[in-house]
Amino acid sequence: MDTMRDITLANDTVDNCRYCLMCRHVCPVGHVTRLETLTPHGWGLTIASQRRGMAEWNEENAEVMFQCADCGTCRANCVTDQPFPDTIARVREELVGLDLAPKRVRETADRLRNWGNPYEEREPTTGAGSGDTALFVGDEAAYIGSDGLAAAKRLLTAAGIDPVAVGHGRSNGYLPSSLGYADIAADIANANLAEVRATGAKRVIVLSPGDHYAFTTLYADRLDIEWPSDVEVVELVSVLDSSESVSFSAEKDARPYAYVDPAHSVRLPERHETPRALVSRVMDGPARELFWRKERAHPVGSTALQFTDPDLANHLTWARLGDAKQAGVGVLVTEDAGTLSHLGAHASRFGIAVQGLYELLADRLDG
Ligand code: SF4
Ligand code: SF4
Repeated sequence: MDTMRDITLANDTVDNCRYCLMCRHVCPVGHVTRLETLTPHGWGLTIASQRRGMAEWNEENAEVMFQCADCGTCRANCVTDQPFPDTIARVREELVGLDLAPKRVRETADRLRNWGNPYEEREPTTGAGSGDTALFVGDEAAYIGSDGLAAAKRLLTAAGIDPVAVGHGRSNGYLPSSLGYADIAADIANANLAEVRATGAKRVIVLSPGDHYAFTTLYADRLDIEWPSDVEVVELVSVLDSSESVSFSAEKDARPYAYVDPAHSVRLPERHETPRALVSRVMDGPARELFWRKERAHPVGSTALQFTDPDLANHLTWARLGDAKQAGVGVLVTEDAGTLSHLGAHASRFGIAVQGLYELLADRLDG
């Protein structure tokens, strides 16, 4: 990695952001905490103070730097496209180097280093075989979303696609990058790439926008690792929406429903309508929308924040469920295993049901 270029880039972004309020209103962490320190310009000022010698990094301000969700909402709403989340990750690398990462962050990094995922003490399963199409499973679908994974495989079979599974149980690389461990992220990215190359696949189907973002953007922007230009990355929702081999039936269900944009959706502005079109094919109740949706979608607590500040992560999930309650929603639908897991852990308190999109589609396949 070109460290000097990276540091200069980070400093330029901080100088652009520290007195700018233009994305402050969309930052989910600022929104739930109402603390000016925990907004893009607040974090920018903290970094700029250190850069100018007005403050030194210590355990207290390091903790603050690990409270950004690395969700991308600020950049998605920045007219000058400042890579502020990348800057946060870069500063966290410095803090890791200074041994100032909070204990829970170091423990998560140890699990990622040893097992390639933060959930289970198990080696990733290496894909066997070759084919035109691979399915990246990752760690969330493998360890916290197995029902969704099974449903996704049924849907692929119905669509006439028999992919080679790769990366079963391995992070997509976002989490270690976000925690400030670029070395672990690079090892994981290279392992994922090696598996894909070994299959000979020219198309990799992914189960979440987070995987798509990691492969097509984060690897290059944060790790200087290029995804092969001849290997297409496509979300399963796009494959299903355009497939002529699958059809679905809606079941009678009068409950109002809403689609929840999964974590990192804001980083893929072209994706928003596709999953909504799929949901509308299997739900026949009235469709509602959350206030924080599409280009301003707020994540639940499933980003890196769940490992840096779990209490704050819960507040993001509660805010999404409160948003749904206010919109009169009875059922929330989404496909990403992490988003589903966090919504599902708290939804009953809000009197809201949570439904996995892949399970819903697989249950309502025609034929
Ligand atoms: S990311 Fe853009 S909008 Fe947000 S503070 Fe920085 S310059 Fe302003
Ligand atoms: S990445 Fe998300 S949490 Fe962090 S500053 Fe941007 S909008 Fe706020």
